[in-house]
Amino acid sequence: MSDDEIRPGHVREITAISNPVIKQMRALSMKKVRDETGQFLAEGLKLVTDALDGDWPVHIVAYSKNAADNARLQSVAAKARARGAMIVEASEKVLTAITRRDNPQMAVGVFSQRWTKREAIRPREGQLWIALDRVRDPGNLGTIIRTADAVGASGVMIVGESTDPFSLEAVRATMGSLFHMPLARMSEAEFLDWRKDWPGMVVGTHLEGAVDYRSVDYTPGPVLLLMGNEQQGLTDALAQACDRLCLIPMAGQADSLNLAVSTGIMAFEVRRSALAMPDPKAPRQGAGS
Ligand code: SAM
Repeated sequence: MSDDEIRPGHVREITAISNPVIKQMRALSMKKVRDETGQFLAEGLKLVTDALDGDWPVHIVAYSKNAADNARLQSVAAKARARGAMIVEASEKVLTAITRRDNPQMAVGVFSQRWTKREAIRPREGQLWIALDRVRDPGNLGTIIRTADAVGASGVMIVGESTDPFSLEAVRATMGSLFHMPLARMSEAEFLDWRKDWPGMVVGTHLEGAVDYRSVDYTPGPVLLLMGNEQQGLTDALAQACDRLCLIPMAGQADSLNLAVSTGIMAFEVRRSALAMPDPKAPRQGAGS
Protein backbone atom coordinates (compact mmCIF):
# COMPACT_ATOMS: atom_id res chain seq x y z
CA MET A 1 0.00 0.00 0.00
CA SER A 2 1.36 3.44 -0.93
CA ASP A 3 1.88 6.07 1.75
CA ASP A 4 -0.55 8.30 -0.13
CA GLU A 5 -3.61 6.08 0.21
CA ILE A 6 -6.31 6.57 2.81
CA ARG A 7 -5.48 4.14 5.59
CA PRO A 8 -8.08 3.54 8.29
CA GLY A 9 -6.81 4.31 11.76
CA HIS A 10 -3.55 5.70 10.40
CA VAL A 11 -2.20 9.09 11.62
CA ARG A 12 0.02 11.12 9.37
CA GLU A 13 1.24 14.63 8.77
CA ILE A 14 0.55 16.24 5.40
CA THR A 15 1.81 19.64 4.28
CA ALA A 16 1.47 19.33 0.49
CA ILE A 17 -1.74 20.24 -1.32
CA SER A 18 -0.67 17.85 -4.08
CA ASN A 19 -0.94 14.87 -1.72
CA PRO A 20 -3.51 12.38 -3.11
CA VAL A 21 -5.43 12.20 0.18
CA ILE A 22 -5.81 15.99 0.15
CA LYS A 23 -6.77 15.89 -3.53
CA GLN A 24 -9.51 13.40 -2.70
CA MET A 25 -10.80 15.62 0.07
CA ARG A 26 -10.74 18.71 -2.15
CA ALA A 27 -12.61 16.86 -4.88
CA LEU A 28 -15.58 16.54 -2.50
CA SER A 29 -16.41 20.17 -3.28
CA MET A 30 -17.74 18.77 -6.60
CA LYS A 31 -21.28 17.36 -6.60
CA LYS A 32 -20.30 14.68 -9.12
CA VAL A 33 -17.65 13.33 -6.73
CA ARG A 34 -20.02 13.52 -3.74
CA ASP A 35 -22.62 11.56 -5.71
CA GLU A 36 -20.09 8.94 -6.83
CA THR A 37 -18.51 8.42 -3.41
CA GLY A 38 -21.58 9.14 -1.22
CA GLN A 39 -19.23 11.21 0.94
CA PHE A 40 -19.07 14.87 1.97
CA LEU A 41 -17.04 17.34 4.02
CA ALA A 42 -18.05 18.68 7.45
CA GLU A 43 -16.02 21.66 8.53
CA GLY A 44 -15.26 22.86 12.05
CA LEU A 45 -14.84 21.16 15.39
CA LYS A 46 -18.53 21.54 16.30
CA LEU A 47 -19.78 19.91 13.10
CA VAL A 48 -17.22 17.11 13.23
CA THR A 49 -18.18 16.48 16.87
CA ASP A 50 -21.92 16.53 16.04
CA ALA A 51 -21.38 14.04 13.21
CA LEU A 52 -19.36 11.68 15.40
CA ASP A 53 -21.89 11.97 18.25
CA GLY A 54 -24.64 11.08 15.77
CA ASP A 55 -22.64 8.01 14.64
CA TRP A 56 -22.26 9.21 11.05
CA PRO A 57 -19.69 6.96 9.32
CA VAL A 58 -16.35 8.79 9.31
CA HIS A 59 -13.50 8.26 6.83
CA ILE A 60 -10.95 11.04 7.44
CA VAL A 61 -10.46 13.76 10.04
CA ALA A 62 -7.89 16.43 9.17
CA TYR A 63 -6.91 18.96 11.80
CA SER A 64 -4.63 21.94 12.06
CA LYS A 65 -1.13 21.15 13.28
CA ASN A 66 -1.21 24.52 15.07
CA ALA A 67 -4.16 23.39 17.20
CA ALA A 68 -2.85 19.90 17.90
CA ASP A 69 -2.70 20.60 21.66
CA ASN A 70 -6.40 21.49 21.89
CA ALA A 71 -8.01 18.95 24.25
CA ARG A 72 -11.38 18.86 22.42
CA LEU A 73 -9.61 18.34 19.13
CA GLN A 74 -7.55 15.50 20.58
CA SER A 75 -10.67 13.79 21.89
CA VAL A 76 -12.43 14.16 18.49
CA ALA A 77 -9.39 12.75 16.68
CA ALA A 78 -9.17 9.83 19.13
CA LYS A 79 -12.87 9.04 18.67
CA ALA A 80 -12.60 9.19 14.88
CA ARG A 81 -9.48 7.02 14.89
CA ALA A 82 -11.17 4.44 17.10
CA ARG A 83 -13.93 4.28 14.47
CA GLY A 84 -11.36 3.52 11.79
CA ALA A 85 -10.89 6.99 10.29
CA MET A 86 -7.58 8.15 8.89
CA ILE A 87 -6.25 11.10 10.91
CA VAL A 88 -4.36 13.85 9.11
CA GLU A 89 -2.31 16.49 10.88
CA ALA A 90 -2.38 19.25 8.26
CA SER A 91 -0.72 22.59 7.65
CA GLU A 92 -2.86 25.76 7.55
CA LYS A 93 -2.26 25.90 3.78
CA VAL A 94 -3.68 22.40 3.32
CA LEU A 95 -6.80 23.14 5.41
CA THR A 96 -7.35 26.37 3.46
CA ALA A 97 -7.14 24.38 0.22
CA ILE A 98 -9.61 21.71 1.42
CA THR A 99 -12.23 24.14 2.72
CA ARG A 100 -11.54 26.80 0.07
CA ARG A 101 -11.50 29.66 2.50
CA ASP A 102 -9.00 31.78 4.37
CA ASN A 103 -8.81 31.33 8.13
CA PRO A 104 -9.97 27.71 7.95
CA GLN A 105 -11.57 25.98 10.91
CA MET A 106 -9.26 23.77 12.97
CA ALA A 107 -10.83 20.50 11.80
CA VAL A 108 -12.55 19.04 8.78
CA GLY A 109 -13.98 15.56 8.41
CA VAL A 110 -15.04 13.29 5.57
CA PHE A 111 -18.29 11.44 6.32
CA SER A 112 -20.78 9.23 4.47
CA GLN A 113 -24.07 10.82 3.45
CA ARG A 114 -27.28 9.57 5.02
CA TRP A 115 -30.67 9.60 3.33
CA THR A 116 -33.94 8.38 4.81
CA LYS A 117 -35.83 6.04 2.47
CA ARG A 118 -39.47 6.92 1.77
CA GLU A 119 -40.61 3.54 3.18
CA ALA A 120 -38.94 4.46 6.48
CA ILE A 121 -41.03 7.62 6.94
CA ARG A 122 -43.84 6.82 9.38
CA PRO A 123 -45.83 10.00 9.94
CA ARG A 124 -47.49 10.23 13.34
CA GLU A 125 -49.78 12.65 15.14
CA GLY A 126 -48.07 15.90 16.13
CA GLN A 127 -45.32 15.57 13.53
CA LEU A 128 -44.25 18.07 10.88
CA TRP A 129 -42.34 17.18 7.72
CA ILE A 130 -41.12 20.02 5.48
CA ALA A 131 -41.04 19.36 1.72
CA LEU A 132 -39.12 21.70 -0.61
CA ASP A 133 -39.88 21.97 -4.30
CA ARG A 134 -36.63 22.28 -6.32
CA VAL A 135 -34.78 24.38 -3.74
CA ARG A 136 -31.91 26.13 -5.52
CA ASP A 137 -29.92 28.05 -2.95
CA PRO A 138 -27.60 26.05 -0.63
CA GLY A 139 -27.79 28.78 2.03
CA ASN A 140 -31.60 28.55 2.01
CA LEU A 141 -31.51 24.76 2.22
CA GLY A 142 -29.01 24.74 5.10
CA THR A 143 -30.98 27.42 6.96
CA ILE A 144 -34.22 25.45 6.50
CA ILE A 145 -32.60 22.27 7.86
CA ARG A 146 -31.38 24.27 10.88
CA THR A 147 -34.86 25.80 11.34
CA ALA A 148 -36.53 22.38 10.97
CA ASP A 149 -34.29 21.11 13.76
CA ALA A 150 -35.07 24.15 15.96
CA VAL A 151 -38.84 23.80 15.51
CA GLY A 152 -38.78 20.07 16.24
CA ALA A 153 -39.76 18.92 12.74
CA SER A 154 -39.43 15.23 11.99
CA GLY A 155 -37.65 15.61 8.66
CA VAL A 156 -36.97 17.55 5.48
CA MET A 157 -37.92 16.21 2.07
CA ILE A 158 -36.28 17.49 -1.10
CA VAL A 159 -38.53 17.24 -4.15
CA GLY A 160 -37.22 17.36 -7.74
CA GLU A 161 -33.87 18.70 -9.03
CA SER A 162 -32.38 20.59 -6.11
CA THR A 163 -29.21 21.98 -4.67
CA ASP A 164 -27.21 19.42 -2.69
CA PRO A 165 -27.65 19.46 1.12
CA PHE A 166 -24.16 17.93 1.36
CA SER A 167 -22.36 20.81 -0.40
CA LEU A 168 -19.90 22.69 1.83
CA GLU A 169 -22.08 25.81 1.76
CA ALA A 170 -25.31 23.99 2.69
CA VAL A 171 -23.59 21.96 5.42
CA ARG A 172 -22.11 25.17 6.88
CA ALA A 173 -25.54 26.85 6.92
CA THR A 174 -27.09 23.94 8.86
CA MET A 175 -24.75 24.71 11.81
CA GLY A 176 -24.75 21.00 12.66
CA SER A 177 -28.51 20.42 12.39
CA LEU A 178 -27.80 18.29 9.32
CA PHE A 179 -26.67 15.57 11.71
CA HIS A 180 -29.95 15.57 13.65
CA MET A 181 -32.52 15.99 10.89
CA PRO A 182 -33.69 13.08 8.70
CA LEU A 183 -33.42 13.99 5.00
CA ALA A 184 -35.34 12.34 2.18
CA ARG A 185 -35.48 13.00 -1.55
CA MET A 186 -37.96 12.21 -4.29
CA SER A 187 -38.79 13.21 -7.83
CA GLU A 188 -42.01 15.18 -8.21
CA ALA A 189 -43.81 12.10 -9.60
CA GLU A 190 -42.63 9.96 -6.66
CA PHE A 191 -43.71 12.66 -4.22
CA LEU A 192 -47.19 12.96 -5.75
CA ASP A 193 -47.58 9.21 -5.48
CA TRP A 194 -46.22 9.05 -1.90
CA ARG A 195 -48.37 11.99 -0.82
CA LYS A 196 -51.56 9.94 -1.47
CA ASP A 197 -50.82 7.93 1.68
CA TRP A 198 -50.02 10.94 3.88
CA PRO A 199 -52.39 10.51 6.84
CA GLY A 200 -52.72 14.21 7.78
CA MET A 201 -53.00 17.64 6.19
CA VAL A 202 -50.79 18.72 3.28
CA VAL A 203 -50.29 22.49 3.52
CA GLY A 204 -48.77 24.37 0.61
CA THR A 205 -47.67 28.00 0.58
CA HIS A 206 -48.40 30.18 -2.40
CA LEU A 207 -48.44 33.86 -3.23
CA GLU A 208 -51.92 33.27 -4.62
CA GLY A 209 -52.94 31.24 -1.57
CA ALA A 210 -56.50 31.87 -0.46
CA VAL A 211 -56.04 31.01 3.22
CA ASP A 212 -54.39 33.16 5.89
CA TYR A 213 -51.78 30.81 7.43
CA ARG A 214 -52.85 31.94 10.93
CA SER A 215 -56.45 30.81 10.43
CA VAL A 216 -55.70 27.10 10.01
CA ASP A 217 -55.92 24.54 12.82
CA TYR A 218 -52.82 22.39 12.23
CA THR A 219 -53.60 19.95 15.04
CA PRO A 220 -53.48 17.03 15.47
CA GLY A 221 -51.14 16.48 12.53
CA PRO A 222 -49.08 15.05 11.02
CA VAL A 223 -48.63 18.07 8.76
CA LEU A 224 -46.71 17.99 5.50
CA LEU A 225 -45.65 21.56 4.70
CA LEU A 226 -44.83 22.18 1.05
CA MET A 227 -42.69 25.19 0.06
CA GLY A 228 -42.06 26.46 -3.48
CA ASN A 229 -38.98 27.11 -5.57
CA GLU A 230 -37.24 30.48 -5.06
CA GLN A 231 -37.93 31.72 -8.60
CA GLN A 232 -41.09 29.91 -9.69
CA GLY A 233 -42.96 28.95 -6.53
CA LEU A 234 -44.77 25.57 -6.46
CA THR A 235 -45.47 23.73 -9.72
CA ASP A 236 -49.17 23.49 -10.58
CA ALA A 237 -49.15 19.74 -9.91
CA LEU A 238 -47.73 20.23 -6.41
CA ALA A 239 -50.08 23.12 -5.64
CA GLN A 240 -53.03 20.93 -6.64
CA ALA A 241 -51.82 18.16 -4.35
CA CYS A 242 -52.25 20.40 -1.27
CA ASP A 243 -55.27 20.36 1.05
CA ARG A 244 -54.72 24.06 1.80
CA LEU A 245 -52.76 26.79 0.00
CA CYS A 246 -51.74 29.36 2.59
CA LEU A 247 -50.59 32.93 2.23
CA ILE A 248 -48.47 34.85 4.73
CA PRO A 249 -49.99 38.34 4.43
CA MET A 250 -47.41 41.05 3.68
CA ALA A 251 -47.29 44.83 3.84
CA GLY A 252 -44.82 47.08 2.00
CA GLN A 253 -43.43 46.69 -1.50
CA ALA A 254 -41.78 43.24 -1.32
CA ASP A 255 -43.17 40.74 -3.86
CA SER A 256 -42.53 37.77 -1.62
CA LEU A 257 -40.58 36.54 1.38
CA ASN A 258 -37.31 34.67 1.20
CA LEU A 259 -37.90 30.89 1.09
CA ALA A 260 -36.09 30.14 4.35
CA VAL A 261 -37.83 32.99 6.16
CA SER A 262 -41.30 31.92 5.00
CA THR A 263 -40.52 28.29 5.90
CA GLY A 264 -39.56 29.45 9.40
CA ILE A 265 -42.78 31.46 9.83
CA MET A 266 -44.93 28.54 8.65
CA ALA A 267 -43.08 25.85 10.62
CA PHE A 268 -43.31 27.75 13.91
CA GLU A 269 -47.03 28.38 13.34
CA VAL A 270 -47.69 24.70 12.59
CA ARG A 271 -45.80 23.68 15.73
CA ARG A 272 -47.14 26.51 17.90
CA SER A 273 -49.03 24.30 20.35
CA ALA A 274 -46.15 21.81 20.61
CA LEU A 275 -43.56 24.40 21.59
CA ALA A 276 -43.37 25.34 25.24
CA MET A 277 -41.13 28.01 26.72
CA PRO A 278 -37.96 26.35 28.07
CA ASP A 279 -37.37 26.28 31.79
CA PRO A 280 -34.97 29.26 32.31
CA LYS A 281 -33.17 27.27 35.02
CA ALA A 282 -32.46 24.29 32.75
CA PRO A 283 -29.09 24.46 30.93
CA ARG A 284 -29.42 24.66 27.11
CA GLN A 285 -27.20 22.38 25.08
CA GLY A 286 -25.48 23.11 21.77
CA ALA A 287 -26.46 26.80 21.41
CA GLY A 288 -25.00 28.14 18.13
CA SER A 289 -24.74 31.61 16.58
N1 SAM B 1 -41.79 34.36 -7.76
C1 SAM B 1 -42.11 33.28 -6.89
C2 SAM B 1 -43.59 32.97 -6.95
O1 SAM B 1 -44.27 33.59 -7.75
O2 SAM B 1 -44.07 32.08 -6.25
C3 SAM B 1 -41.64 33.63 -5.50
C4 SAM B 1 -41.28 32.44 -4.73
S1 SAM B 1 -40.88 32.74 -3.06
C5 SAM B 1 -39.38 33.57 -3.12
C6 SAM B 1 -40.41 31.11 -2.58
C7 SAM B 1 -41.45 30.40 -1.79
O3 SAM B 1 -41.55 30.97 -0.50
C8 SAM B 1 -42.85 30.42 -2.33
O4 SAM B 1 -43.05 29.46 -3.34
C9 SAM B 1 -43.65 30.08 -1.09
O5 SAM B 1 -43.56 28.72 -0.80
C10 SAM B 1 -42.89 30.86 -0.03
N2 SAM B 1 -43.40 32.23 0.19
C11 SAM B 1 -42.72 33.38 0.08
N3 SAM B 1 -43.47 34.41 0.44
C12 SAM B 1 -44.68 33.91 0.78
C13 SAM B 1 -45.90 34.49 1.28
N4 SAM B 1 -46.03 35.78 1.49
N5 SAM B 1 -46.92 33.65 1.55
C14 SAM B 1 -46.81 32.31 1.36
N6 SAM B 1 -45.68 31.73 0.91
C15 SAM B 1 -44.63 32.51 0.63
